[in-house]
Amino acid sequence: MHVMTDRHEVVVIGGGQAGLAMGHFLARRGLKFTILEAADQPGAAWRERWDSLRLFTPARYSSLPGLAFPGDSDSYPTRDEVVGYLADYVRRFELPVELNNRVRSLRKADDTYEVRTEDRTYEADQVVVATGPFQTPRVPPIANELDPSIVQLHSSAYRSPTGISQGPVLVIGGGNSGFQIAVELAASHETHLSIGSRQTPLPQRIFGRDLFWYLDATGLIRKTTESRIGRRLSGRDTLIGSTPRGLRRRHGVRLHPRAVGAEGSAVTFSDGAELNVGAIIWATGFTSDYSWIEVPVFDEHGRAVHRRGVTGSPGLYFLGLSWQHTRGSALIGWVKDDAEYLAEEISRFRANAPGTRQVKVDSARLKAA
Ligand SMILES: Cc1cc2nc3c(=O)[nH]c(=O)nc-3n(C[C@H](O)[C@H](O)[C@H](O)COP(=O)(O)OP(=O)(O)OC[C@H]3O[C@@H](n4cnc5c(N)ncnc54)[C@H](O)[C@@H]3O)c2cc1C
Repeated sequence: MHVMTDRHEVVVIGGGQAGLAMGHFLARRGLKFTILEAADQPGAAWRERWDSLRLFTPARYSSLPGLAFPGDSDSYPTRDEVVGYLADYVRRFELPVELNNRVRSLRKADDTYEVRTEDRTYEADQVVVATGPFQTPRVPPIANELDPSIVQLHSSAYRSPTGISQGPVLVIGGGNSGFQIAVELAASHETHLSIGSRQTPLPQRIFGRDLFWYLDATGLIRKTTESRIGRRLSGRDTLIGSTPRGLRRRHGVRLHPRAVGAEGSAVTFSDGAELNVGAIIWATGFTSDYSWIEVPVFDEHGRAVHRRGVTGSPGLYFLGLSWQHTRGSALIGWVKDDAEYLAEEISRFRANAPGTRQVKVDSARLKAA
């Protein structure tokens, strides 16, 4: 049964770091809002990541607005510390996060947005979609050619080497996830890594300082997609703290080029070589699924069309996208810049809304009374 709830000035969809940062700024401006989260706790995407994960951003650069990440500012937080920090953030600022409340559809009716979950309908003047930059696991079609006896996991389902069968393990994907998972597996398994396209390696620490100190101090982390350097940087993925050579020499991981075919238990690479595997970890990234948003703000590839998160549909925004505005847009320590910008846009929109609906409703009620 559907229950019509109070209307809100703003509904934020997603209770990860982006949604929480948004909530922080909306609360500071005194807006009436709610945050709808599909999972049973905030920051759920972090909880889904592998057990040994450590951030590549040190604690000093992993804080949301108004609450420093606890502990040594130069240390690299663990997955569980991030989950704990986000839960603490919600409590500290008393953010209205409605858990177990997945949004099933978002529509626009006249000048109101209608947000539907399983059993409720919310009405909002404005909506912020903060459902994350990494949503639906992407696995190439060659996965279907493998024998069912081969264990196959996407990196988002990988937790630890325990339970991964012995016999060669092939990690496919040369990004940060692929490298980190390969390092972990190499301690206990014969591990291979297939790198489809090489990413630019950057050291984690340079002369005793973290990479992000330099990116911050030089202003590179805040270069926007509208600048020439921002555009160049956004076209390149970076590999932080690893190199293919280091992986091979220090950890004994065997490297292969792109995986192009599979049959039975064998994977073929672009150099013609073949490998019989016992297990495969697909570290092949994610796609976005916005099929539940019935507002025409997407291009032909299903990507949101926006300018710094502001879409062409008045009052509809995105937050936390990769390179939404800068390299920092999808990082925990910098998402606040875009969140603050959107809070400003949201306030301006409210101030300019014709007659400000809230006042109209109140005066109608007054008359009736
Ligand atoms: C392996 C990995 C390591 C990373 N390491 C770092 C790092 O070291 N430092 C750093 O700064 N960044 C890192 N990132 C990048 C980024 O910080 C994270 O991806 C972060 O989780 C993004 O936060 P978010 O709030 O934008 O999205 P998410 O954390 O994905 O949160 C989105 C939330 O929306 C909810 N949701 C989705 N759909 C709906 C719906 N329809 N209705 C209601 N709720 C919904 C989800 O349940 C989720 O809780 C890493 C990313 C990955 C994948």
